Amino acid sequence: MQIQENISLKPYNTFGIDAIARQFAAFESRDELEILLDDHSSKSNFILGGGSNILFTKNIDGLVLKNEIKGITVIREDEHYVYVKVGAGENWHSFVQYCIEHSWAGVENLSLIPGNVGASPMQNIGAYGVEIKDVFFDLEAFRPEDKKGYTFTLNDCEFGYRDSVFKRKFKDQFIILNVTYRLHKNPVFHTSYGAIMQELEKMQVKELSIYAISQAVINIRRAKLPDPAVTGNAGSFFKNPSVPREQYETLKKEFDTLIAYKNPGDTYKLAAGWLIEQCGWKGFRRGDAGCHQKQALVLVNYGNASGADIFQLSEEILQTVKNKFGIDMEREVNVV
Ligand SMILES: Cc1cc2nc3c(=O)[nH]c(=O)nc-3n(C[C@H](O)[C@H](O)[C@H](O)COP(=O)(O)OP(=O)(O)OC[C@H]3O[C@@H](n4cnc5c(N)ncnc54)[C@H](O)[C@@H]3O)c2cc1C
Repeated sequence: MQIQENISLKPYNTFGIDAIARQFAAFESRDELEILLDDHSSKSNFILGGGSNILFTKNIDGLVLKNEIKGITVIREDEHYVYVKVGAGENWHSFVQYCIEHSWAGVENLSLIPGNVGASPMQNIGAYGVEIKDVFFDLEAFRPEDKKGYTFTLNDCEFGYRDSVFKRKFKDQFIILNVTYRLHKNPVFHTSYGAIMQELEKMQVKELSIYAISQAVINIRRAKLPDPAVTGNAGSFFKNPSVPREQYETLKKEFDTLIAYKNPGDTYKLAAGWLIEQCGWKGFRRGDAGCHQKQALVLVNYGNASGADIFQLSEEILQTVKNKFGIDMEREVNVV
């Protein structure tokens, strides 16, 4: 629980941005967190998980608190479900693997998402047809303002597409300590999304299992997404925008290759990667900031780009998409 001064955050964010934290400390329990906050309470403090959904555009003038609360505990089970409480500092993918080893189903489609458990509810992480809200039971969080602990149920979190209360009305107010997931004892397989079925066939899987789905997702992700250990990135930089049906129909008439998915209700989700690609950004590079060659949705740091370089590129992308399609896209990554 030692406090370090003037620490580079480069190893602590997958974009590899060299921002400086005036102070940096890791905590492994709520007690340790409270001690740190008692001595260093400030509005400039920042909670860090695995740093895989952050773009640092400036130095952090306060204390960066790295959440390292560990532990995976079964707190309850019944005929159908097992309720597993997980420390916020556990690595997400290691937790997924732990579930697969124990035959607990529900998170296999979320294999290989970088980052930690504590951030999983922040943006309701999702991939291949599954979101964290599908297995979420509740979470415990600490609020520095009144030094109290709070429990958030599924309804309290107001989960949406890459969204929750923690990104909106409670932004920067709570520190998530642990999350409890409700996992299935009898798996419900989700294989219709993306190329999962194709990959399972390629793998010559005879009998479907959560292990096989996890392996298929891992293979697809490895082939598709840049590895942050090699090229700095934070996954999808932008959210897929949703538009009303009329707007979708007008766009589809003008751009017949438009990629879109119908949402429940009368709106359509447009593929942000397609919109960006149509504006000519795919493979673009300026200095060390770029738009990935295979995935236009992923902005990359080829080495020494600053957060400001990446942010500027994202501004230009948003502007050209607005000019060409009349659509306001949003960033998925947290800009700090
Ligand atoms: C290659 C790649 C692929 C990705 N693919 C996906 C994907 O398929 N689906 C998807 O949803 N995401 C994806 N992401 C984004 C990212 O992995 C997730 O958003 C992940 O949950 C972030 O976790 P983290 O611990 O790294 O959070 P960080 O980046 O450390 O933090 C993200 C935000 O949450 C806050 N935060 C973190 N921990 C806590 C806590 N305990 N309490 C309160 N606030 C906290 C931080 O202050 C920050 O605002 C991808 C990223 C990469 C690099």
